[in-house]
Amino acid sequence: MLTKIINPEHITRFKEWLNECKKFVIIAHTNPDGDAIGSSLALYHYLRYLRKNAYVIMPNQFPDFLKWLPGADNVMIYPYLTDAANKRIAEADVICCLDFNRLDRVDEIAEQIRDSKAKKVLIDHHLDPEQFADITISHPEQSSTCELLYRFLCDLGYYYKMSTTVATCIYTGMMTDTGGFTYNSNNPELFFIVSMLLQKHVDKDLVYRKVNYNFSASRLLLQGQVLTGMVVLPEYHTAILTLTKEQQQKFQYSKGDSEGFVNIPLQIKEVIFTCFLREDTEKDMVKVSLRSIGEFPCNVVAEEFGGGGHKNASGGELLNMDAEMALQRFRKVLEKYKGLLEECYNQHPK
Ligand code: 5GP
Ligand code: MN
Repeated sequence: MLTKIINPEHITRFKEWLNECKKFVIIAHTNPDGDAIGSSLALYHYLRYLRKNAYVIMPNQFPDFLKWLPGADNVMIYPYLTDAANKRIAEADVICCLDFNRLDRVDEIAEQIRDSKAKKVLIDHHLDPEQFADITISHPEQSSTCELLYRFLCDLGYYYKMSTTVATCIYTGMMTDTGGFTYNSNNPELFFIVSMLLQKHVDKDLVYRKVNYNFSASRLLLQGQVLTGMVVLPEYHTAILTLTKEQQQKFQYSKGDSEGFVNIPLQIKEVIFTCFLREDTEKDMVKVSLRSIGEFPCNVVAEEFGGGGHKNASGGELLNMDAEMALQRFRKVLEKYKGLLEECYNQHPK
């Protein structure tokens, strides 16, 4: 049995919305990942099953390794379909905000959401949600928004009728947000849910292959190049990877090609904190991705780069710099955390 974690009043209220409303818009965060797309598409298929007009809008493009997900072709990418997307948002009865805690995580769409007269629901697992929605379902202890959405849909009474399509979308987000059930995944209920999804005929082995064994040769060569440039700082239990624009050009980089790179140095015995610095091809900035193992709060470090996230996975941006400058900046910031890194490493040796 699953513990009921969602406030029943929220379920009752959303059920009323389902009775009254016809037009639903679903939005997730910029640089959508498996959890953002998985939860959005799961909710989309559920709403379509209820014969609602449902639209999924993303602030920007999502990676190729998620394009196989059922319904992915119908996702509206905001910068490409701005007018149509604005119209959907303006006309919506309900806006469902998934997998983000603050409106600034959806870039330009934030303003449209704020201005819309629609009812709003937030379903998310990031810390400290901004209070902009009529219903806020925020559970940071959940592995993923997909896990939380599964619970939400069950509370709405959908499990019996749940389709393989919805189950597959949910499973994908749970798998990707836990690194294939290797972190944030010690809650036994997580595996109960996986078991319930398998009963809906999710082909979990196929999902794994679709997500992880879906690379171009150039992507693997790019990985080799990035690893060759790895900087390991054993005294900080930290490793840093960088990716320049030139390297991206040389290996025909496309969005998402560097997904997962940041996790690789965690394989090093004494490393508990990793940083990946990628020069952006469109904006003059370096995207910072951080990962940690154990108690080291990489979101606190991310805040130094105007970002945030979870304790073990966070990110931010360094504006007006190249990768080399970002590397120097990161090393400088790191000095402050030397003691804490040592302490955390000693608490959780591998
Ligand atoms: P990733 O490294 O995969 O891009 O991001 C990991 C996590 O860090 C995301 O799920 C998100 O919670 C957080 N994150 C990444 N970039 C940013 C950012 O620029 N701002 C904030 N607030 N969080 C971010
Ligand atoms: Mn997530």
